[in-house]
Amino acid sequence: MCAAAGFMAWAVRGRSSGVFGPSVWRGPRNGRAVALTFDDGPSESTPRLLDLLARYGVTATFFQCGANVRRLPEVTRAVHDGGHAIGNHSYTHPLFSFRSQQFMEEELLLTQEVIEEHTGRRPLWFRAPYGVRWYGLGPVQRRLRLIGTMWTVIGLDWRLKAGAVVDRIARRVSGGAILCLHDGRELIPKPDISVTLDAVRRLVPLLLDQGYKFETIGRLICPTNLPNASSR
Ligand SMILES: [Zn+2]
Repeated sequence: MCAAAGFMAWAVRGRSSGVFGPSVWRGPRNGRAVALTFDDGPSESTPRLLDLLARYGVTATFFQCGANVRRLPEVTRAVHDGGHAIGNHSYTHPLFSFRSQQFMEEELLLTQEVIEEHTGRRPLWFRAPYGVRWYGLGPVQRRLRLIGTMWTVIGLDWRLKAGAVVDRIARRVSGGAILCLHDGRELIPKPDISVTLDAVRRLVPLLLDQGYKFETIGRLICPTNLPNASSR
């Protein structure tokens, strides 16, 4: 019983679980490439993050919620124009546990459509809200040609102070790591992401000094197959 419950918990939330849909949680370990990812945007504060990343010439992957894209399409366009990749993070950021396949499909499809409408590009990568996957998500991802994306290190930037976020990531980072931070807070307008901005301001130069290189998820996972901008 305990083993079954443990398996279920891992299957639903485990970063390396592919039980409910194929997913990646890190890139190749050989080399110094890592991927910065930001969830729950776009938000009113995303442009400040874009300025910060541009200052260091760093590209990242933004897992955006469709409802936020609908609210702030000009910010989504700025993310795209900045050379970053945009992934799908559902439309309304619901928990997928105990939801129907049809519900999940609508959440993912609407988000594909609104991101394509404003950037001309349909996402290739999907991150489940709260990292929770459920029965029926696998076929939905296959139909929409989305690859599930978890993380190697999660920054806990919604509850830690910036110094603790930086320490946590700096201690756990390694070649191929996918780092998860947030440029929004679910669907909340004007969220306070000052911790994230502060952490990025300290983390990016620290990792660059250690010889790390920042890539989008597409380039991190498939560096040879996707040599050009389509790898986003
Ligand atoms: Zn999220």
